[in-house]
Amino acid sequence: MSAPPSVFVSHGAPTLILERAPARDFLAGLGATLGRPEAILCVSAHWETAEPAVSTAERPGTIHDFYGFPEALYRLHYPAPGASALARRAAGLLAGAGLGCALDPDRGLDHGAWAPLMLAYPDARVPTTQLSVQPGLGAAHHLALGRALAPLRDEGVLVLASGGATHNLGEFGRHPIGAPPVEYARAFDDWLAEAVEAGRAGDVADYRNRAPHGARNHPSEEHFLPLLVAMGAGGPGAKGRRLHASFTYGVLSMAAFAFG
Ligand code: ZN
Repeated sequence: MSAPPSVFVSHGAPTLILERAPARDFLAGLGATLGRPEAILCVSAHWETAEPAVSTAERPGTIHDFYGFPEALYRLHYPAPGASALARRAAGLLAGAGLGCALDPDRGLDHGAWAPLMLAYPDARVPTTQLSVQPGLGAAHHLALGRALAPLRDEGVLVLASGGATHNLGEFGRHPIGAPPVEYARAFDDWLAEAVEAGRAGDVADYRNRAPHGARNHPSEEHFLPLLVAMGAGGPGAKGRRLHASFTYGVLSMAAFAFG
């Protein structure tokens, strides 16, 4: 099996899995597109820690880390087996790159991980672990995380980074799910796709200064940082391929990219 690419997906609102949307269809076909990896390391925007951490849980629970959503969402469970050996391997790679990494024996899968995985690999048979993001350490740190994890791809591991290409929740709720993108989000999304496809990792890491409306699209960084991990895991100079482009609710780009 050839090495799987590293992949970034935008997971959108927790309700995506219950909706009809092009992004849902894309995620539902992603498993067939990528094939079945040996294991999955999922970097989720919804696990924030001061220093990197990976889950060594043997049977990671499904975390319903959202409030006030339809009851049907809370009944969803994703019973994938854990991937403790992969977690330890990832921690070792990070240590080798001078990046610390804690082992968390209890952490389950939050909706940043299980929502796209439930669509892409619905049988939940691929061993899966999660890696946290560190909003306090910035974009370049996440590029370095990804670069340290690149060897995992040659071991058949899918590095799946899950966040949002644009993510201003302060402006969420003004438009229906199928609305066309608002101008400031579309401009950022276009810039991002061009930078990613040209392999301009430095520009992507410095998006707050270089992209149109960078800070407005990401008032906080946690949903953007997984993209840097995927880009780094593609290897030095990796040019991304856009796997999907659409918007939900006018402000949430659902862009997805593959690297390597
Ligand atoms: Zn999210």
